[in-house]
Amino acid sequence: MLVVQKYGGSSVATLELIRNCALRCRARVAQGDRLVVVVSAMSGETNRLIALANELVAETHRVGVTKGPYVVSAKRTPEHERELDQLVATGEVVSAALLAMAIQDVGGRAISLVGSQLGMQTDRSFGRARILGIDVTRLHRELERGSVVVCAGFQGTDASGDVTTLGRGGSDTSAVALAAALHADVCEILTDVDGVYTTDPRVVPSARKIPRLSYEEMLELAGLGAKVLQIRSVELAMRYGVHLCVRTSFDDRPGTMIVPEEPDMESVLVSGVALERNEAKVTLVGVPDVPGVVAKIFTAMAELDIVVDMIIQNAGVDGRADVTFTVPQSELDRAAKAIAAVQFGGPSPTVTTDSEICKISIVGLGMRTHAGVAARAFSLLAADGINVQMVSTSEIKISVVVHERYGELALRALHDGFALGAG
Ligand code: ASP
Ligand code: MG
Repeated sequence: MLVVQKYGGSSVATLELIRNCALRCRARVAQGDRLVVVVSAMSGETNRLIALANELVAETHRVGVTKGPYVVSAKRTPEHERELDQLVATGEVVSAALLAMAIQDVGGRAISLVGSQLGMQTDRSFGRARILGIDVTRLHRELERGSVVVCAGFQGTDASGDVTTLGRGGSDTSAVALAAALHADVCEILTDVDGVYTTDPRVVPSARKIPRLSYEEMLELAGLGAKVLQIRSVELAMRYGVHLCVRTSFDDRPGTMIVPEEPDMESVLVSGVALERNEAKVTLVGVPDVPGVVAKIFTAMAELDIVVDMIIQNAGVDGRADVTFTVPQSELDRAAKAIAAVQFGGPSPTVTTDSEICKISIVGLGMRTHAGVAARAFSLLAADGINVQMVSTSEIKISVVVHERYGELALRALHDGFALGAG
């Protein structure tokens, strides 16, 4: 088998852990597998490098340390962004070289490659680069020599040879892209959790590890899964049919397989339940019920780059309608200010906001073919006296907004009501 393994930051956080990864690699090779390994920076390292840069530069050039693409500031110059990528990419270079040495030290054959050496070609969008292609010539050559090829994750090079990075958490994407390009049999994501769970086990102790999940379900469970996998990597895996396995690097327990949909998967009504706490809602009462009004509202949000999640509009009465939508809590103030400034023509609507809400989503392929899942979910919530404020659905997901106070109760009610728990 040709296997791509990705070790996350917590799996290479210390030299002792790096040695542990080296032993795992050696064992895998001893089984007869060929191995390409992708590593993240040692945990905390990327944040440390960003903090160094932030300390040095003017406020307008500073970068946050949240997941996903860096927030791009209009004032940050391309020159600055280039240096930032050059800087943060070093974290992965360090762990790749150390792991290659550790493998050699335990008697294995290994070589580390940085983005340019492993042929990872990207565009020039620093901090959020897109992969254009991978030239796998060197990788194949090293594999043929019998080496474990240890690749620095998260990075690539653009056409001019400059270092780029793929956005926070991007090593997952590196690993999946490499697995696709090499037609690997499996891409194993080794991390500090042992798989994807039916819900957050810290909130619902009866949560169970899901043995097998489809890409679609994993994407919808982003609220659960984003902590485990960069969402973009799941999209990529789906596009190229890469079989993913999420498991822990600390022992040999089997993890969660994320694979193309199989016929029997639809028999599972609900696979997982997720709670998103960082939601807030904006309500406009009495907007004119004429064409172009919702366009105005959401253009105002788009101009501020605010991601709107759920939207509801009621049927207009006497030429006036009400609109409610949700945004990330951190954007609530900006959203409300922008809405207050919109000119609707005629009397202004009343704008209210509420950040004491949360969103619960239930996800399962079985919803596509089974009726009554929504009815059952609402009955379960009603039985616990939980009021549903908003609802949205997709083919395989139902999301409800409830008061923040009831978030965990709702999660438990749905998790146990759909019999997802252990035992
Ligand atoms: N080291 C990078 C980060 O912290 C990439 C990764 O870990 O996947 O975001
Ligand atoms: Mg990660």
